[in-house]
Amino acid sequence: MKLFSIFGNPVSHSRSPLMHNSVFKNLNYSACYTRTHLLDGTKLKETFFALGLSGANVTVPHKEAAFKACDEVRGFAKTVGVVNTLINENGKLIGYNTDADGFMYAIEEFENIKKILILGAGGTAKALATRFKQERIEVSVLNRSEGRLSFFNDLACQTYTWDTFELSSYDLVVNTTSAGLADEELPAPKKLILSILKNTNYIADAIYGKLTPFLQLASQNNITYKDGADMLLGQGVLANELFVNATLKKEDIKREMAMSFLL
Ligand code: NDP
Repeated sequence: MKLFSIFGNPVSHSRSPLMHNSVFKNLNYSACYTRTHLLDGTKLKETFFALGLSGANVTVPHKEAAFKACDEVRGFAKTVGVVNTLINENGKLIGYNTDADGFMYAIEEFENIKKILILGAGGTAKALATRFKQERIEVSVLNRSEGRLSFFNDLACQTYTWDTFELSSYDLVVNTTSAGLADEELPAPKKLILSILKNTNYIADAIYGKLTPFLQLASQNNITYKDGADMLLGQGVLANELFVNATLKKEDIKREMAMSFLL
């Protein structure tokens, strides 16, 4: 039996074990998916091999460490420097990124998205900004601190910290910060968030499984919003295809994984 896991800190909230195990169990694929609470991202590779894993997902805050840990990085992950899916290929650690395409799937129902504000500048923000730019979408990034903004300047995004922010109007605002994940914080000071909410058509949060304070404010302001569940499904289907090395049909994986959201 093959063994898979998700690495993160925190990781207890993750629905990935349920999603992937539903696929494995219901499609008779001999594998099991567990979770690993990893404090130190530099220990990712040795922990992966010590556990005898065939593959893994990586969540907050280790996606950039995962990129560094890989023997080889393929596809979009190479462009963006962020890895969320790991495969053991004959003892070598191969890295992929399925987050960005998962998010594009999630916002398919939002129309006319030409200008996006991303809140946060971590691994998820990097993946999304790079993908949006490929779609020729205008991207602005607002982060708590300045340190991580240079990546986005190089991508030709408008970048701001809370102190330098200049409000504009947006089609979509996406929260990629971890504010609201394990606390009740907003991704930026409330006054800023309220002004942003008055100037956007849609809101999305990468966090799933709870109505974050950010989404609560969107709801109170009658803005169409969605949490990170569809993104989770999109990235999960693509990761599972890699785990089973395309031996299962994508539509079957998607059906079983979507069913796990009802559990
Ligand atoms: P990172 O650790 O790489 O980045 C976190 C970002 O959040 C940084 O920009 C950080 O700012 C900011 N931040 C953290 N705490 C606060 C706070 N209290 N207030 C304001 N900003 C804050 O995380 P990831 O990009 O890997 O993940 C981000 C979120 O997206 C997580 O909640 C994760 O669960 C979710 N996610 C969901 C997915 C899904 O499938 N639905 C897929 C991927 C991610 P600074 O630079 O100042 O430290």
